Parts: sequence; structure tokens; C-alpha cells
Amino acid sequence: MTALHLRGVLLPGHDEVDLWVSDGVLRTTPVPGAETVVRKGFLVPGLADAHCHVGLGPRGPIELEDAAAQAEADRDAGTLLIRDCGVPIDNSPLQERADLPRIIRAGRHLVRPKRYLPAVGVELEDEEQLPAAVAEQAERGDGWVKLVGDWIDRSVGDLAPLWSADVLAEAVRTAHDKGARVTAHVFGADTIDGLLAAGVDCIEHGTGVTDAAIAAMAARGVALVPTLINIEHFPDIAARAHRYPTYAAHMRAMHAVVDQRIGAAIEAGVPVYAGTDAGGLVEHGRIVDEIVALHRVGMSRTDAIGAASWAARSWLGVQDPDVVDGAPADLVVYDGDPRLDLDVLRTPVRLILRGAVVG
Ligand SMILES: [Zn+2]
Repeated sequence: MTALHLRGVLLPGHDEVDLWVSDGVLRTTPVPGAETVVRKGFLVPGLADAHCHVGLGPRGPIELEDAAAQAEADRDAGTLLIRDCGVPIDNSPLQERADLPRIIRAGRHLVRPKRYLPAVGVELEDEEQLPAAVAEQAERGDGWVKLVGDWIDRSVGDLAPLWSADVLAEAVRTAHDKGARVTAHVFGADTIDGLLAAGVDCIEHGTGVTDAAIAAMAARGVALVPTLINIEHFPDIAARAHRYPTYAAHMRAMHAVVDQRIGAAIEAGVPVYAGTDAGGLVEHGRIVDEIVALHRVGMSRTDAIGAASWAARSWLGVQDPDVVDGAPADLVVYDGDPRLDLDVLRTPVRLILRGAVVG
């Protein structure tokens, strides 16, 4: 593989620097024979989508070939790292393709019958099966397990937890014993509290997060991936749920305060990361829209970029933000300074992934 040379302003926290790329990693000292591919610009560690689904379409599971096209759409938008938050197909063959984003898989969603989208999750007839199912997904995935925490219970007519407290606590312990982190899809306040009590590592969506939950998350470093561009669909979901007026009202009420709630979490120091939730209602390739949304709810522009770049990459264990020499050579290059104008992120001029130019 040809060695590369780049000159530009490296985010975060550097002025103009010269960087070299060889053997898939960054070097701060010259590499003989390197080809100069960037002479001027802003160099951002590869964007990270902390919540999307490569292999899930609006109507359920899709073919691997179509999943590859989803990953390509993400890459072309600058996303070079994906935490796949649960898919019904085995997308691990895509991890072999050097031109596609790095994918950290959470295996399949763990759900109960009729308590999630049909044909997506592993449906457990008895909740007591959860710890064993967690163990199985922990073996198959890349260090993450995904649970569905709450969903509409049609017999109640509102959101309700899928699991009781002791089962959840045992499930989280099982995952941790296997070295995996646990994340959970959750909308409502009651279920968030139960998940936090069980010791989960991350909350997905988290629209109902209370001040007490925010304080607990900040104290323990529990992450939040709010998927704000997906929450925009809540009014549509409510409109279609006319048979369940309590649920519809609940969804509308959470939608009405989501900016304020996620803003409060950011303010309190909860680690918040960018996730698009692409693969369901959201198209792939929209990471910049989520960065813009995080800025709207209170993150500085620089922190919002970090939430989809260096901070997320560090949280996901891909790179140490304080180390340049030897870091994975995943960079997105822009002509302008995205810290001054987030729309700059919509037009990457170069994509470097695993040390090679891929766009
Ligand atoms: Zn999702």
C-alpha cells in the first residue's frame, strides 16, 4: 500500500500539521516515498455513527448486498466507524471489506414476542431466557449487546418495560462477565430508571430521561445516544397509533420536550454521542444531520463534531484521542473549518480509511 502524506489542521486541538500514513496508521515523522494527497484543509478523525443498522431496511431484514450499499452511503458521508445497534442478518462479512466503514456489531436485538418490530429481534417467550440470550449475543458480537427496554404493550395501551428488574440485573451481569457492554432501546422514564439500576452502559434514544436519571448517568458515565433525527418521527408514530390514545399522547409529550431533555443531559456532563438510527425510518448517510441536531440542543459545534468523531472513537475503543502517532489512519478531510460552520461536513473532499484513500 502506498504511503501517504497530508498537511492540514488536525482536529481536535492541533494547528497545521504534517502527517504521514503507512501500514494503516498515522505517523508524525516523514515516511520516505509518501504520496502527498492533501496539501491544505481540515483533518477530522473518521466520523462515527454510534447507532445505526447495516442490514435493516424500512420493512425489515435486507440482503447483504443491500446492507453493503447502506455502509457505502454512510462512508460517503464521512462515517468511517459504525456501532451497529442490532440487525436481523449476519453482516459480519462486511467487516472483511477494507473499503467499508469499520463495524462494531451488537448482534441481534433481544426482545419479547409482539414487543418490537416484527422479524427483527430474537423473541424470547420467557423473560427468564434473557441472561442466556445475552451470553449468546455477547459471543457473537463485537463487545456490545442490544436489548429492547420498552415498547408499546397493547394490553396496557402505553409504553411498558419488557423485562423485570431482577432479570435485567442478571442479564447485565452476564454480559459484563463476558466482557461485553449492554445498551438498550428505551423511550420512557420508568424503563430508563430500571435499566440504570440494572447497570447498563448506554441508553439509546432516552427521550424520557428525568433529572434524577441524568444525574445518575453523569455520575457513572453511562452514555446516551439520543438519535435526534429519528425522534422527529414520534408525531407520525403517534398519528398512526389512534387505537392507543395514551401511548400516542405519551409519544407526543416526549417529542415536545426532547430538545430540552437531551440538552439537560449534555449540560450535566452525560457522555452523548451521535447516532442516526439509520436502517429503520432514517436513510443511511445522515450523520451530519445528527451532528447539527446535537448542536441545536446545546452542544458546541466542536463538541458536536467530537460526539461523532474523536470522542465516539475513544468511547468505542478504536483510538485514544490524545495519541496521533500510531493511531488508525481514518480521516475525513474538509476544505473549510467545520468548527465555524457545520455544513462544511456535508462535503468531504477526501476519505482515508485504514490508511487508504477510499473517496
Ligand atoms: Zn435503532
